[in-house]
Amino acid sequence: MLKQNNEQTVISELRHVTKTIEGARGTIVTIIEDIDLQLKKDKITALLGPSGSGKSTLIKIISGLHKPTSGEVIFRDRPLTSPTPKISIAFQNFALFPWLTVFENVAIVLKAKGVDDNLIKDKALKILDTIGLDGFEDAYPKELSGGMKQRVGFARALIVEPELLCMDEPFSALDILTAENLRREFIDLWTDRKLPTEAILLVTHNIEEAVFFADECIILSKNPGRIRARITINLQHKRNPESDEFKMFLDMIYQILTNPELEAQSIQSRYFVSKEKYQMLPNAKPGAIAGLLELVFERGGEEDIYKLSDELQMEVDDILPIVDAGVLLQFVKVTEGDITITEQGKEFVTADILERKVSFSKQVMENAALVKQIIRLLNTKKNHRLHEDFIEEYLVKFFTAEEAKRQLDIAITWGRFGELFSYDATTGELYLENSKS
Ligand code: ADP
Ligand code: MG
Repeated sequence: MLKQNNEQTVISELRHVTKTIEGARGTIVTIIEDIDLQLKKDKITALLGPSGSGKSTLIKIISGLHKPTSGEVIFRDRPLTSPTPKISIAFQNFALFPWLTVFENVAIVLKAKGVDDNLIKDKALKILDTIGLDGFEDAYPKELSGGMKQRVGFARALIVEPELLCMDEPFSALDILTAENLRREFIDLWTDRKLPTEAILLVTHNIEEAVFFADECIILSKNPGRIRARITINLQHKRNPESDEFKMFLDMIYQILTNPELEAQSIQSRYFVSKEKYQMLPNAKPGAIAGLLELVFERGGEEDIYKLSDELQMEVDDILPIVDAGVLLQFVKVTEGDITITEQGKEFVTADILERKVSFSKQVMENAALVKQIIRLLNTKKNHRLHEDFIEEYLVKFFTAEEAKRQLDIAITWGRFGELFSYDATTGELYLENSKS
């Protein structure tokens, strides 16, 4: 419960933020337009967009360095009107003082605030140690590699123990290998809760970097900078760029960025939920559906729904999801309050339990989009296994959290009854039977 609350804590928020500047001959140029954004505790948000889409402008507005032309900047429930030590920025070009040592470059941040020297020393040595600069305290910037300089940049941003750490393309001035190593170390520190900050905003134009870090990835368009898509990346951290899921997100975001004329949502939906994305599975167990079919069949294949509910001593409201499920699976038809069994329905009712499973699975695969999509996903995975959370997180895009859970439960119940896949309740994994380890 507490965790859930924490997860929802909003640290920083932008509401309808627009920034315009005066261009040549008095023209007004809109740099970013109507940006709504929430940065949450324990989350990494990535701002991804082409060069000139206003990412750096946004970071400056979020940190209070620049004022928006219109809209609000809220930090910890209060309007933010000037920079605060609770928000730090690490820049691409490190911004170190060449005449100061590593230790001094980091300590100077607290010195400027009049913190006691002994405390500064403790804090500086601690953060330098955390960030991998132990032994480099007395080195000067010019003696350091790019990767080490950026570590100093991180240490400097973190020594104040900010609530929000903003990073503007922090890895893009580094060579590929150095950047890769530093990204890995950084995410390890974050997941192991060794970084003294509560939320991170990462600005980047590198898709792989965004997928590697972000819990939520915000994609900006250019001219003016607007939010084109918000993508929840529900993969556990210390992500493996070689994994199928990682590649799926990479590909999805790549398609969004390279097709600026298409609606992002329509691209996103290709990757998991297709046109049928809003199809909602009625909440009915296979046993209940079978029971209904048997009853209608016994009545000669046709019955009034109200009579049925009387007979079953159920409210019409309770029986309707079962009827809806029967209709969805094409076992029954409903016209003017009468329910009629179909050929498929008859086939199901008159079959033995094994044949029933076959008949049920056939109808499910033809009509229940979610189950079909789960099978598709299981088939694309090399090990034919998928954690249920992965599906649930996707469903949250289309349903409330509660309904997403219910939809997943229904899909699992139907899929298992039809023996389309198996489910391990202890690990929460769905898997194809032939892949059972
Ligand atoms: P990004 O970081 O995504 O590359 P920026 O926020 O740096 O984008 O800039 C967005 C756009 O706004 C660019 O076209 C840039 O030229 C313009 N811009 C930003 N700041 C100013 C400024 N102070 N004066 C004029 N143009 C600016
Ligand atoms: Mg920039």
